[in-house]
Amino acid sequence: MTQDARKTPYTTNNAGVPVESDEHSLTVGPDGPVLLQDHYLIEKMAQFNRERVPERVVHAKGSGAYGVFRVTNDVSQFTRADLFQPGRRTGMLARFSTVAGEQGSPDTWRDPRGFALKFYTDHGNYDLVGNNTPVFFVRDPSKFQDFIRSQKRRPDSGLRDHDMQWDFWTLSPESAHMVAWLMGDRGIPRSYRHMNGYGSHTYLWVNGGGEKFWVKYHLKTDQGVEFLTQDEADRIAGEDPDSHRRDLYESIARGEPPSWTMYVQVMPFEDAPDYRFNPFDLTKVWPHGDHPLIEVGRMTLDRNPEDWFIHVEQAAFEPSSLVPGIGPSPDRMLLGRLFSYPDAHRYRIGANYAQLPPNRSRSPVSSYAKDGAMRFEASATARPYAPNSYGGPAAGGGRFGGPAGWAAAGEMVREAYSLRGEDDDWGQPGTLVRRVLDDPARDRLVANVSGHLKDGVSAPVLERAFRYWRSIDGALGDRIAAAVRDG
Ligand code: NDP
Repeated sequence: MTQDARKTPYTTNNAGVPVESDEHSLTVGPDGPVLLQDHYLIEKMAQFNRERVPERVVHAKGSGAYGVFRVTNDVSQFTRADLFQPGRRTGMLARFSTVAGEQGSPDTWRDPRGFALKFYTDHGNYDLVGNNTPVFFVRDPSKFQDFIRSQKRRPDSGLRDHDMQWDFWTLSPESAHMVAWLMGDRGIPRSYRHMNGYGSHTYLWVNGGGEKFWVKYHLKTDQGVEFLTQDEADRIAGEDPDSHRRDLYESIARGEPPSWTMYVQVMPFEDAPDYRFNPFDLTKVWPHGDHPLIEVGRMTLDRNPEDWFIHVEQAAFEPSSLVPGIGPSPDRMLLGRLFSYPDAHRYRIGANYAQLPPNRSRSPVSSYAKDGAMRFEASATARPYAPNSYGGPAAGGGRFGGPAGWAAAGEMVREAYSLRGEDDDWGQPGTLVRRVLDDPARDRLVANVSGHLKDGVSAPVLERAFRYWRSIDGALGDRIAAAVRDG
């Protein structure tokens, strides 16, 4: 009898063989020992021990959904990328996450949020792996591991430590813009639906005629930006630590799919060398006044995955997955991430991670890759080498355009980016504090920072933190120092 023919399905082991009991192991008499020949019991115990894959070092706790991206404006003069052509509709997957916390950590900790998108285009997967912040804490990939260690747990106590966090931040002034952003209202979104996403890095777009443009992506929430105060977040962390995951899942389940409108800022390729600051520096935004937002399309998340582990935990986003018409920029952080993301996936979910359901290209794959652990799709050809004369795939050559790149030459050095007139670490966070925030938002910023500094930050680090905030804005720094000393 087949499973379909029965009303209640019968239990099988993983090989499909019917099992004898869901409740009792095989024993010698009802009171005797368990037998090693109970292969079903052994399979259950062994499988259970292997249910987890390594947790991501960063962005461990995530939630996700499938959806669709629809182009709403003609940006073909800037890029030939298939998914951004007029009228296009492209299936996609989004994964939102916190950064420093582990799988079980509360969704409402003050932390940046990952905003990772995978578009299943006709030319393979395009991954835009951003955050809910337009900037980042560091601008060189060699500082990333140090930065993350300062935010996670100490090796001795196993505890997170504000002293360590401020020690790193105040010794790394390039963090000021991101720290000012994080300590403000947007540092704790009300839900994943109520935050914007940003590509953060600068990317290169190339149009059908070969013209190049630098772009920055913005995904503005159609639900409106909303935040939680520190007190609200602390309460929710205890009452419902999975509140953001629940909100995303339940809103889609009840037929209220969240959406975001995608915009780009566009800089002509040849303007970059003379722009007033380095346009590839990840700690800076491009002011809207210089480069206004141009609408591209809308993404709508309308389908919950039927299995969270398969589709969210095994989702593998990589900024290196760029499609024809889109390339990287000289942003050092982006160039570092092009390596580190696929490397993390190979370690975490195996060499053939691209064949897993959320990662599988929806357009044909004709790669020469073969073999490796857990491979379940055949190689494209029985003669796995190129060039070959037996009809194996041949690279497109000029068919999809050349590499989306730029000219580079020079001596090998270990140096910071060369400085231009407005390349400083304090100007843009100062603008944020003075011009973008209103009085109540500034009051909350002072309360958030002083509350954080009062929690275990030692005297020398504290003095540096006051200087750091005074460098962003003198009056604000004085208020923070007073709030810490008086409080
Ligand atoms: P604008 O006045 O044109 O833009 C200010 C932007 O600040 C808004 O558009 C909004 O971004 C964002 N914003 C509003 N409230 C907050 C908040 N509480 N925390 C963080 N961001 C907030 O000025 P500029 O473009 O000249 O930028 C001024 C400053 O604004 C920058 O130094 C930067 O700190 C911040 N900012 C700028 C962004 C940009 O890409 N230009 C993006 C985000 C922040 P949004 O419209 O994306 O919601």
